[in-house]
Amino acid sequence: MSTTSARKPGRLFFANPGPTNIPDSVLRAMDRATVDFMGSDFLEVYDEAVAGLKRLLFTEGEVFVYTSSGHGAWEATLQNLFSPGDRILMPEAGYFSRTWGAMARQYGIEVEMPETDWRRGPEAARITERLVADKGHEIKAVCIVHNETSTGVALDLKTIREAIDAAGHPALFLVDTISSFGSFEFRMKEWGIDGVVGGSQKGLMLPAGLAFTAVSAKALEAHKRATITRFYFDWTKMMARRHRSFVGTVPVSPFYGLRESVRLIEAEGIEAVWHRHHRLAEATRRAVSIWSGNEGVSFYCADPKRRSDSVTAVKMPDGHDAEAVRAIAYDRFNVSLGGGLEPLGGKLFRIGHMGDLNEPMILGTLGVVEMSLRLAHVPHARGGVDAAIDYLATA
Ligand SMILES: *Cc1c(COP(=O)(O)O)cnc(C)c1O
Repeated sequence: MSTTSARKPGRLFFANPGPTNIPDSVLRAMDRATVDFMGSDFLEVYDEAVAGLKRLLFTEGEVFVYTSSGHGAWEATLQNLFSPGDRILMPEAGYFSRTWGAMARQYGIEVEMPETDWRRGPEAARITERLVADKGHEIKAVCIVHNETSTGVALDLKTIREAIDAAGHPALFLVDTISSFGSFEFRMKEWGIDGVVGGSQKGLMLPAGLAFTAVSAKALEAHKRATITRFYFDWTKMMARRHRSFVGTVPVSPFYGLRESVRLIEAEGIEAVWHRHHRLAEATRRAVSIWSGNEGVSFYCADPKRRSDSVTAVKMPDGHDAEAVRAIAYDRFNVSLGGGLEPLGGKLFRIGHMGDLNEPMILGTLGVVEMSLRLAHVPHARGGVDAAIDYLATA
């Protein structure tokens, strides 16, 4: 995308909804020579990191960690829980739910993907209806993307748990929390979630390369019956190993980083971290609300209650290309914004506000977005940054 090779002064502002900014102390923690992954020094670090991950997920269950990006955790979760021919329900609400569903089909799983309005996300009542109609309990799992990173629509998982319970249906409840974990409220045990898919490079503020599935006892029972072919990602093989994860070499650096990111989150306080995300997200929303004047850019998420605290998708007015705005922000101002993912390419851009972020960073980003809208001649009303300042100075 870059059109210039000249050095850009200052830091690249990462305002992309993943990967995200990595705190300096996490970078320092990972910078080390080879250590023995079976040695006692590393095992202590490893155990602390995994225990911290469980605390942040609010679970006492098993957590399987993988050397992969989030897609690997999706794949591992499907392989370990299902058999070819099993049926699952995956409401299709954006790029990520669509892709996870397509992956499941590839493994011979019968995937029901009821279409939803991507600007609003799935309705809990439809899930209850479908499960009530499934008298023979053929549906083995309900799969939900907590925060559709492609649309900026976040779901209330408690409501979906209640929707499953209302049908009295035994399906597993599986959640992709890749772009919500560490950014807004998530409670695995209390919300009755059987499988949680997460990744390192979003709210956890780490480089891409670690991903995980946290599982309930009920999911581990289902695992015993699952026959999809697997080897590297096999949970049974993993549980037989000291680390209870990894078939093969255990990557060490990411665990020094994970231990440090858990320490940072707990030092701030997980609820304070959620609150900070909410504040910065709300500042972003105040700016977008102003920009939507003059028939300008607007929220892609049409339901104000579902606007995500980790990413805001900004919809372009007809006839304007979001990529032009992103190119100006990146090439001229060194700010990386997220683009629209298929089929939303060019139709929106996304402001990521997750991870290691504070007020000056979000104000810098919003200032650059407003300048880029102006330079790209995209309709908007001026004053979005002022609205964000007003909010942040008083809230
Ligand atoms: C980023 C993301 C993924 C994919 O993760 P990769 O690390 O890119 O493989 C899956 N689901 C959601 C909701 C995401 O935001």
